[in-house]
Amino acid sequence: MSRSSTDNWNACPRGELKSLSTRLRARRTRRNWARSFATLALVACAGVGAWSLAPQMEAMMDFKIAGIHCSRVLALAQEYAAHKLDPQVEEQIKTHIHRCPRCYLRFKAMRLIMSEDHPGTHHDRRSLAFPRSSLDAPAVVRKLG
Ligand SMILES: [Zn+2]
Repeated sequence: MSRSSTDNWNACPRGELKSLSTRLRARRTRRNWARSFATLALVACAGVGAWSLAPQMEAMMDFKIAGIHCSRVLALAQEYAAHKLDPQVEEQIKTHIHRCPRCYLRFKAMRLIMSEDHPGTHHDRRSLAFPRSSLDAPAVVRKLG
């Protein structure tokens, strides 16, 4: 049985194996290129998607607290620190910062948060303490003081 099946085998024509291996190698190369291209396209799509979504995410995170948006608060940060703003706007920003953890952290990082007891005093250690349990930072600071 096994002998008869091997008897049916013929020798390959000259060059048959070489051409077969060449074709297989070419197919593998094409497949690898296609795979690389697909991966690259996927990464590019994800990148473009994330890039185009970033402004929308930023807009969604732009909260209006105390009548002023986060983006406006950040834009006025330096003037706020220098007391160059209208007192009403300054008060709005102060209230916003102390109710918005995101802006609070940003102002804290910029070292722009001033003491509530002594307005104008920068780098007051008590006022730099982030309120963990409450969004009313000054109340927490007073409690600690
Ligand atoms: Zn904010």
